[in-house]
Amino acid sequence: MKLVKKMAALGLAAVMALSMVACGSSKPAETTESAAEENAGGTIIFGTNAEFPPFEYVTGTGVIGEFDGIDMAIAKQIAESNGKTAAINNMEFDSLLLALQNGQVDAVIAGMTITDERKEAVDFSVPYYAATQVMIVREDSDIQKASDMQGKKIVVVQGYTGETCVQDLGYEYEAFKKGSETILELTNKKCDVVVIDSATAEKYVADNEGLKIVEDTDAFEAEEYGIAVKKGNTELLNEINESINKMLSDGTISSISAQYLDADIEEEEGSASDAE
Ligand code: GLN
Repeated sequence: MKLVKKMAALGLAAVMALSMVACGSSKPAETTESAAEENAGGTIIFGTNAEFPPFEYVTGTGVIGEFDGIDMAIAKQIAESNGKTAAINNMEFDSLLLALQNGQVDAVIAGMTITDERKEAVDFSVPYYAATQVMIVREDSDIQKASDMQGKKIVVVQGYTGETCVQDLGYEYEAFKKGSETILELTNKKCDVVVIDSATAEKYVADNEGLKIVEDTDAFEAEEYGIAVKKGNTELLNEINESINKMLSDGTISSISAQYLDADIEEEEGSASDAE
């Protein structure tokens, strides 16, 4: 894996969010109810996989129907700032880009890392969040860097960039469909390490006893999340980019992130999983 250190440009959203975790806002923001009255411009259907806290998950009262999380709050703002309403189509992560190409959804917001491979299939917005892969291990683990995973039982989520990273390192692994399943494997001692995105890892470690995060910034390069649209849909892409740039510069994304990273998420079983 290449050692690309390009964290800084976009790092602000994630870094500020992480550093603000301790400052203690307790709940995700209430959003305004102006969407319906201003919905002259129609609906943006966002595809997501609501199995990725704190970015998207299913809960009793979400910001868009039952869907809540950093991405959901961002999607809602993007729609509203363009005089539209946001709707969510929840599906498996692996189906998202196809759904975009088929016109089933207008945009994909799913904590999705911008990669060259994905860029061949879809167009991405400007980055809105900086992340990296990390390892989650049990507290008594001797894993201290990525190469310590050699010979260990490694678990990833299928189709996530974490899977690609472990593949690139050349280690064997087992892939599961959901992040929550990988954590169960770890807490049940059926595996030694889970490789997954940093903010999601923080959430899982906060919510499950006996786990810790091990970082290795030499092994795992910086990633950036973007919103995907169908190739050539520049009209929607421009709207999205304009909204993201505004939310990055006025601090909206930082404060949304901080609120959700700090919130005690009550996650329910998502409907995408029920359909499996
Ligand atoms: N960032 C990772 C990826 O793009 C995981 C995304 C997700 O699970 N929603 O593959």
